[in-house]
Parts: sequence; structure tokens; C-alpha cells
Amino acid sequence: MVKKRSILAGGAAALVLLAWGGYAWSGGAVPADGTAPEVEVEVTPTAPPSGGLLALTFDDGPRRSTTTALLDGLAQRGVKATFFLVGQRVENNQDLVERMEAEGHQIGIHTYDHVSALTGLSNADFDAQVGRTRRLLTSILGRSDFALRPPYGAIDPAVRANAGGPIILWSVDPEDWATEDAAAVADHLVSHARDGDILLLHDIFPSSVEAALQAVDALHARGFYFVTVSELLAERHITPENGVSYRCAYP
Ligand SMILES: [Zn+2]
Repeated sequence: MVKKRSILAGGAAALVLLAWGGYAWSGGAVPADGTAPEVEVEVTPTAPPSGGLLALTFDDGPRRSTTTALLDGLAQRGVKATFFLVGQRVENNQDLVERMEAEGHQIGIHTYDHVSALTGLSNADFDAQVGRTRRLLTSILGRSDFALRPPYGAIDPAVRANAGGPIILWSVDPEDWATEDAAAVADHLVSHARDGDILLLHDIFPSSVEAALQAVDALHARGFYFVTVSELLAERHITPENGVSYRCAYP
């Protein structure tokens, strides 16, 4: 499979070279009959994929057992991730939030108690989900610049207007919440990930933590590098704006 793919890539490269060559030769050594000269084209195989940048994101935490295991695994691998937190779960896990911050992860807001959707809420109800969580995180971290991930990615004009930060969606979703099969989730991530993707997982399930770490190892082997969402956007020269949604940052 890999061999076949590289042959195809080589063929494409040869075509490009010939097209270029034909153009260059048109004023020079073109045979009298107008046909292209016969040349040997040295086809340089396209370089093997060198990976790219990926942003791992985790919703619905923190949860003491699973988030701790995840942070340990990410630290061992030198990987930075992004966590969209549920305020209610932050209340008794402030040390985990401090640890995320200290270890270079990005922290964002999911909701306060995982309301089913932020769309259609009154301003007061929206504030009770997002504003309350922002104030809680501000009391722990001393700043308020948190991105928002709305549950299910549900957005309407009011959510955009009240987001208070950029809205971060995702481009790869293995639906890890629907299975305990860590290998299947990891396979989905590895087979779908491409440079600039934002990957969605949930750090409240042991199988999701296992899948995340398996996928990190496999994707590292393929040359991918993991960054926070902020770093990914910055690397792609995207300046996130409040109320604007981002689902990937392809090159
Ligand atoms: Zn969620």
C-alpha cells in the first residue's frame, strides 16, 4: 500500500517536471518536428509524510482519576493539550486545573454543569454556564481569556455574541464517549489525523485516556507534533477572535 502510494506520487512529480521542462525547452532545443525531446527525468520521490501539527482537545473534565492519568501520560510524552472544563467539576479539582496550567496545557470553558446546549438560553442562563465558569477559572488562574467549546458544537448568534472568547470546534471526532474500545478510538484518530486537525476526546473515560496516549505514540511515530489550540492557530497565522468559531487550521 505504501509502495503503491509512493509510485503514484512519483508519477505525479514526473508529470510536473515534464510540464516544466516542456515550457523551458519551447524556445530552445525543441526538435524540428515539434515533439518534446526525449529526456531522462530523475524523479525524486516525494518525501514521506513528515506529519504536521495536531491539537488534542478534551471535554467534560476534569475527573480526578482519569484526568490525572492523562496528565501523567502527556507529561511523559512532552505533549501539550487543550482542556475544555466543566465548572462544576472544577470545584473540587482546582489542583488539577493548576497542574494543567503549570504544565503548559491550554484551559478553556465547556459549561458549568454541561447543559445540553448553550443555544436558546436567556442571557442569565448563559451566564450561569459560561460566565460562572469563567469567573471560577479566573479565581484560580488570575486571568479570564478562555476559549469556549459549546456542547455538541451548537452555536447560534447569541452564543457567538456572548462567547467571551474564540469558539473552538473540532475536525476529528472518534465518538469516544460511545465505546470503551480504546484501540478503535486510537485507530480512528491515527487514520483520520492530518496536519492542522483539532481532535475531540473526553478525559472522563479511562478508555479515552488510553486511546489518547496510544494515538499520541502512533502519531509521534508518523512525525506529528502536538500543540495547544492557541499554538496551532498562532502557527498558522490565525488570530482568534471572540465569537468566531474555528474547527481546524490546515496549512
Ligand atoms: Zn461535553
